[in-house]
Amino acid sequence: AGTLHVVATPIGNLADLSPRAQDTLRTVAAICAEDTRHTRHLLAHFGIEKPLLALHEHNEAEVAGRLVARLAAGESLALVSDAGTPLVSDPGFRLVRAAREAGIRVSPVPGPSAIIAALSVAGLPSDRFAFEGFLPAKAGARRERLAALVGETRTLAFYESSHRIAESLADFRTVFGDARRAVLARELTKLFETVLDGTLADLHAAVEADANQRKGEFVLLVEGVGDDAEARVAQGKLLYAKLAAHLP
Ligand code: SAM
Repeated sequence: AGTLHVVATPIGNLADLSPRAQDTLRTVAAICAEDTRHTRHLLAHFGIEKPLLALHEHNEAEVAGRLVARLAAGESLALVSDAGTPLVSDPGFRLVRAAREAGIRVSPVPGPSAIIAALSVAGLPSDRFAFEGFLPAKAGARRERLAALVGETRTLAFYESSHRIAESLADFRTVFGDARRAVLARELTKLFETVLDGTLADLHAAVEADANQRKGEFVLLVEGVGDDAEARVAQGKLLYAKLAAHLP
């Protein structure tokens, strides 16, 4: 049987595609990509020509079986997403699971991931952290998710897009309070890379004050609650929210 290589790709700087990633993409029979146009552009930069197969949220369940059959028949395939590491807030989970269930070897070619890049420069505790991916788009659901996290002691990590960053930071202030320490990492590895640190109130003000600070791609890291007065208040709020859910 072939191998499914799960290959990380750059999150902004093309030079971050590792030599081993390039070799792997050159040697597989075909590459499964989230957006084939986007990946064709990446491959063109490295002079790699390969058949591309679309694998995205909407067709993954359907095409995974066919891809596993090709792997079982002896072809090796690579899986990439538009940026960073596949499966991390990106497609691939169903394919990887199906391949593993079929006894296919699944091997990583590790590389960039926005969450790890942000953690590595944030200066927040990172021995333990909780990756929360994208918050719900709807305001009510978003605040509910935040309320469930307010007592978390680990550093919290979120992905956020440009059209919601200001709104989300406002919700963080409401639920977590103004004083919680946080880091906003924007456009990592790109021309306008910016890493802001401060309180949630500072970050919200910075983003509101300058439209440029609302552009691009973001990772928001929020320090967990410590064992102090603020922590006890946050834990109290959390307990209250849990109890309130059971009150008429
Ligand atoms: N699989 C990717 C990874 O490993 O990082 C993440 C894919 S997710 C669909 C895209 C989100 O990742 C963006 O909305 C943003 O929150 C974050 N992101 C991606 N590239 C980034 C960058 N260069 N700087 C900051 N955040 C980035």
